[in-house]
Amino acid sequence: MERRDIPKHKISKNAIRKSLRLFGLMPASDKWLLALGTLFLAVTAATALLFPDLLGRMVDAYTDVNRLQESAMVFLYLFLAQAIFSFLRIGLYVRVAENLTATLRNRLYRSVILQNMDFFHQNRTGDLLSRFTADIGQIQDTFTSNLAMFLRQLMVIIGGIVYLFFTSNTLSLYMLGTVPVVVVISLFFGRFIRKIGKQVQELTGQNSVIAEETFTGIQNVKAFTNENFEMQRYGNDVEQLRKKSIYRGLMRGAFSSFIIVCLFGSIVWLIFLGLGMVRSGEMALGELISFMFFTGFIGGSIGGMAEQFVQIQKTLGAVERVLDLIEKPSEQALPSWGTLEPVDGRVVFDNVSFSYPGRPEFPVLNGVNLSVDAGKSLAIVGPSGAGKSTIINLLYRFYEPDSGKITIGEQVIADMCLFNLRKQLALVPQEILLFGGTIYENILYGNPAADKEAVYEAARMANAHDFISAFPEGYKTVVGDRGIKLSGGQRQRIAIARAMLRNPQLLILDEATSSLDTESEQQVQSALKTLMMGRTSIVIAHRLSTIRHADTIVVLKQGKIIEQGNHETLMNKEGGYYRTMVEKQQDHTDFINHHENP
Ligand code: ATP
Repeated sequence: MERRDIPKHKISKNAIRKSLRLFGLMPASDKWLLALGTLFLAVTAATALLFPDLLGRMVDAYTDVNRLQESAMVFLYLFLAQAIFSFLRIGLYVRVAENLTATLRNRLYRSVILQNMDFFHQNRTGDLLSRFTADIGQIQDTFTSNLAMFLRQLMVIIGGIVYLFFTSNTLSLYMLGTVPVVVVISLFFGRFIRKIGKQVQELTGQNSVIAEETFTGIQNVKAFTNENFEMQRYGNDVEQLRKKSIYRGLMRGAFSSFIIVCLFGSIVWLIFLGLGMVRSGEMALGELISFMFFTGFIGGSIGGMAEQFVQIQKTLGAVERVLDLIEKPSEQALPSWGTLEPVDGRVVFDNVSFSYPGRPEFPVLNGVNLSVDAGKSLAIVGPSGAGKSTIINLLYRFYEPDSGKITIGEQVIADMCLFNLRKQLALVPQEILLFGGTIYENILYGNPAADKEAVYEAARMANAHDFISAFPEGYKTVVGDRGIKLSGGQRQRIAIARAMLRNPQLLILDEATSSLDTESEQQVQSALKTLMMGRTSIVIAHRLSTIRHADTIVVLKQGKIIEQGNHETLMNKEGGYYRTMVEKQQDHTDFINHHENP
């Protein structure tokens, strides 16, 4: 979301009260700085208000050289004071705004990163990011400038009107009856024209979308002989755009005529009335000049205030969204980085049932019972959508089961500290996400506290050391978008090294579906074998050939375990799901082998 798209928020007592919570995030020292800044702001507004008055006095003193020089000097001091106070005000406001922005960014990041997985499924990344960019940016702008400008304009309007009534009551009433009215009407007029402008923009965009769609899908257009249809569709759009653009042009013309007649007209009218008063001796010429300058100041401030008002309305919405997210309870209070309680690696699922919070009516796991002893391996097989990844999600406590319990060693995981639980697990995922840093940093992610030797050792055990060392920059090679692109097998071995460095009790392998060439496959398999040694491992298998040696194989179908045992027992089951699948995959392999080596 770009900042100009931030919706406005109604100014209500509630919204203002909520926004005031922002001040709670400021340290007391910043509140004092803000108060001091506002005092300086009042000084600059007051000096600005002296300007028209002094100008009038200077005009009235034009026959007296001494007084004229005096006035010029006063002007100089005035500008100097204004420059100094304005600089100080900006300095203080910027400091407070940037401190607040930094606090908001950190708090928001902390709150978001500690939310549970369901939160991330319910919220799109783009929306979350716009809290950081658009909303925080809006708050930052408001504290840096909008708020100050709003206050200053308010002071100028009030001070200016008071001054005007001191000069001439009659002329002031005439002025207040015309200039602010014209300014407010022109504001609404201007906003109306902007709205039409936006519609024209949208239509122009729509127009190019149609063209783009047809040109990229030209084969379809021609195959269906829909050229005429497309021309008509495009033509209708062009016609709409033409009409809207003419309308916009006419409205712009009307706007400038309005400004010429009403705004300039009312100013000339006021000067005309004022000069009459000067002639009759009710007013000095200098006073009239001050009066007209004040009128300009007030008109300009009313216009400016309306714009600041819109910005402040937007900020109220932004503050509400950001603070609501900051105050949202997290997955668990940030765990202490204390010592780990060791757990024994036996895993048991006891009658576990589960459905995702987003689809509560759809049971994903239905009374699942399974167990794997410490140091042994368990393979989960089953058709796509059976619930294999869900078992892992529950083990990580990304979600909590609806019923039943999961234990690791003697401990029920629902009672464990999340940090402690997840520290015991390492995942070698299907989609290996390498961060945009170096290979070294990518391996280190498994255990940021590890030293260099440990990283190298992990890479060696993962059969990755040789290929990494063969790169000219070795472990310092940057991977990802701005670095070297690694092959599937290399990425997997880095992921294995990462898991190795983590040295977990429990290993989870979400087996890659894409097959590697035979040599890569062998290296990955042997690295995995080393990794699995002495640890409990749970493998989500897609290719049955790789899990033949698992201690236990469970077959999951529609959230239920339908078969359980080792390879031999399951193969002995006539008509069993596992046996049928193995035979099918065997046929497939035979078919390929036969065609490759007939
Ligand atoms: P695959 O082999 O294709 O990865 P799987 O056996 O791992 O499949 P799961 O990812 O566990 O299957 O999904 C089980 C069911 O849960 C599917 O029907 C899926 O649509 C549903 N599901 C998965 N994640 C969510 C979610 N976040 N919200 C709602 N439903 C979900």
